[in-house]
Amino acid sequence: MRIAWRGKVSPAPKSLNPIPIKDRMKLPHQAMLEQSPLLRATNFKEVNLGYSEDLARAEAQRCLECAKPVCIDDCPVGVKVKEFVQLIVAGQYLAAAAKIREDNVLPAITGRVCPQEDHCEGGCLMGKKVQPLGIGYLERFVADYEQLHMDRTTIRRAPPTGKKVAIVGSGPSGLTAAGDLVQKGHEVRVFEALHELGGVLVYGIPEFRLPKQIIREQIDYMRAMGVEFETNVVVGKTITIDELIEEEGYDAVFIGTGAGAPQFMGIPGEHLNGVYSANEFLTRINLMHAYEFPRFDEPMLDFRGKNVAVVGGGNTALDAIRSALRLGAGKAFVIYRRSEAEMPARKEEVKHAKEEGIEFHMLTNPIEFLSDGRGWLTGVRCMRMQLGEPDASGRRRPVPIEGSQFEIPLTVAVMAIGTSANPLIQSTTPGLVTNKRNYIEADPETQRTSRKGVFAGGDIVTGSATVILAMGAGRRAAKSIHEYLTVGAW
Ligand SMILES: Cc1cc2nc3c(=O)[nH]c(=O)nc-3n(C[C@H](O)[C@H](O)[C@H](O)COP(=O)(O)OP(=O)(O)OC[C@H]3O[C@@H](n4cnc5c(N)ncnc54)[C@H](O)[C@@H]3O)c2cc1C
Repeated sequence: MRIAWRGKVSPAPKSLNPIPIKDRMKLPHQAMLEQSPLLRATNFKEVNLGYSEDLARAEAQRCLECAKPVCIDDCPVGVKVKEFVQLIVAGQYLAAAAKIREDNVLPAITGRVCPQEDHCEGGCLMGKKVQPLGIGYLERFVADYEQLHMDRTTIRRAPPTGKKVAIVGSGPSGLTAAGDLVQKGHEVRVFEALHELGGVLVYGIPEFRLPKQIIREQIDYMRAMGVEFETNVVVGKTITIDELIEEEGYDAVFIGTGAGAPQFMGIPGEHLNGVYSANEFLTRINLMHAYEFPRFDEPMLDFRGKNVAVVGGGNTALDAIRSALRLGAGKAFVIYRRSEAEMPARKEEVKHAKEEGIEFHMLTNPIEFLSDGRGWLTGVRCMRMQLGEPDASGRRRPVPIEGSQFEIPLTVAVMAIGTSANPLIQSTTPGLVTNKRNYIEADPETQRTSRKGVFAGGDIVTGSATVILAMGAGRRAAKSIHEYLTVGAW
């Protein structure tokens, strides 16, 4: 899904690129250095190692500097790609970072995990003939450069407006709304249910794709901008939305609580010991540090040398199975009911998973988990599938092939087939309208809900989506919260 940013884009500075435009298509795409597959499959260190200055400038010089850059239109937060890339060519990396930050408060994160192929890079004109410009890699480069070289004392705070905004949830939607609102001078406080900030970025996405330190640094930057954070506050239990407004004096509230409740298939044997939801599996590994055993003694089933499978084809599925591999799984499988072309995971993650030795059972669907008779998982019975006509999602529907059943012995299975909305806030906020799947109804342009002064965005409105789409919603909400606080009309 593409949702374009429709904000204003300032004119680009004069180009300093020494390469004539007609020759730029011939310049090779600069690959990013990465840990070798054999080594990285045994550790949780980051797979991608980043660009050097030379590589970044060489890649930036490939930009065609289009008169009408589609890459900007295709970015849900409207990052001014052409301008920041021109600043890299000029060697002005801190200025390039500042340019990105005009629209994106989490560049080191989006540079690492955004599905660029569906947004900026998907729209890059070069991609019609050769590899598109590595916009994500370049964004990551300047964000990391900024982290190393920036003097935080130079961050300027906007004059206070006297208005207070509560943000519920510290995932990418909440962080983006907070970052944009604090820059307008509003007092912003983020309330987070967990003991760590970052939402899925911290409890879902593993260290080898997005180091926790990067998230902490981005949040520290926001603290320096003036955003306040409070952890271990479960809104709807510790305090309600109404109490935030009526007793704590917040002028507006943004709900960005995500869609973290796990889903199961409803097939026999899903209750067995050894079958995890991806949410629990990844939370134990990431948030509770199971990957740092024995420094952290988080209980996990010991599957070293044994078979582990994940069911699903998205980023969550790949994160879970690549984590299992790193924790010592003997064989690690992906079981996915469609083909690779339909997999929603980022292309780079699929490539990395294959290189690391993950086995893919495509067009395969589990129909039963098998037991040892004492409540423990021993395997999974599957059916082969074929693709039929497209379904409501536009993807070809998987249809079972009669008589194709087969079994895989397993010690652990992880269900990564999607998530749903946690109902707590909806059930404790009278008048907050939800849809039949319990997601909060919000206007797609303004992110306003049915309750005056209450806005919502990200996965809690759309269902599970992506970091950049959640950030886009946070930006739209911040813009309309600012309008509401300035004009006062609802
Ligand atoms: C394992 C995994 C890997 C992913 N990989 C990618 C990827 O590579 N690229 C990509 O673009 N997208 C990826 N996604 C999707 C992406 O992370 C989400 O779409 C995005 O994080 C949604 O942001 P959000 O702000 O809506 O919610 P979340 O990130 O879910 O954050 C919501 C926050 O609200 C808090 N919260 C919930 N209820 C309450 C409450 N009552 N009170 C206070 N706080 C509350 C939660 O604890 C959480 O911290 C991945 C998702 C998962 C699960």
